[in-house]
Amino acid sequence: MSAKLYKILLISGIVLALLAIPIFGLTYSSSKNLEVDFLDVGQGDAILIKSPFGQNILVDGGPDGKVVEQLGKKLPFWDKQIDLIVLTHPHDDHVTGLTEIIKRYDVRKILYTGVVHDAPNYLAWLEEARNKKIPLALVDRPQVIKLGENCELDVLFPQKSFIGQGIENLNNSSIVAKLFYGQTSFLLTGDAEIAVEKDLLAASVDLKSQVLKIGHHGSDTSSSEEFLEAVKPKFAVIEVGKDNDFGHPNLRILKRLERIGAEIFRTDLDGTIKFESDGMEINKKY
Ligand SMILES: [Zn+2]
Repeated sequence: MSAKLYKILLISGIVLALLAIPIFGLTYSSSKNLEVDFLDVGQGDAILIKSPFGQNILVDGGPDGKVVEQLGKKLPFWDKQIDLIVLTHPHDDHVTGLTEIIKRYDVRKILYTGVVHDAPNYLAWLEEARNKKIPLALVDRPQVIKLGENCELDVLFPQKSFIGQGIENLNNSSIVAKLFYGQTSFLLTGDAEIAVEKDLLAASVDLKSQVLKIGHHGSDTSSSEEFLEAVKPKFAVIEVGKDNDFGHPNLRILKRLERIGAEIFRTDLDGTIKFESDGMEINKKY
């Protein structure tokens, strides 16, 4: 093959490949809907939010590298940008998978509480974030993160600063956030326990949401009657590993959810759980 012919073939190949990308992209493009995937990462949390405006947000990263595989199924191979990572709290089952995510993806910003914790997986994640020079934003009070028209992520908790502070029960330092799109909302609770639920109720925060990510993997340390009644979820999502050592989810909590009329989904039984919102209503996707 002559050098000239080779060059022509190479250039036309590149042009064809570039043309193909938008066509290929159609299979991934959302119809201006908000998509939320509760990823099956075993015993831990990892939630992918795809906003109607193209942002990717990851809340927690699960206990190991499984999140990389799960994210690979949800994002097209050319989309390596994660606009925001939210680490609810630094326990292993929320932070460990995020280290690999930071290595492989172009992460634009990280939101976390700065609570003191010296476990190796948390420290390794922080070091990796600093190495990659990812902006680290500390959250020390409720705040609103605007994603676009009629779409925002509201941080409801912490209501006070945990920056540089030790706390006896790290679960109760969890970032609790409500994701809004139009008239629809998702409440994400990390591993927040009843003490946090009480604080939110005492502060008269509007908790009502169609989807509730059940706190602390369905443990009975969370999901008090009062809290569930205030949220009144149509769908309850439990991120939990098969045959886990903790007895999660707790039977009493499952019964409580049934009593309030919530439809329950569990990652150990259902795998990754996907919802879509058009701003008017939320639909469970199959
Ligand atoms: Zn957890």
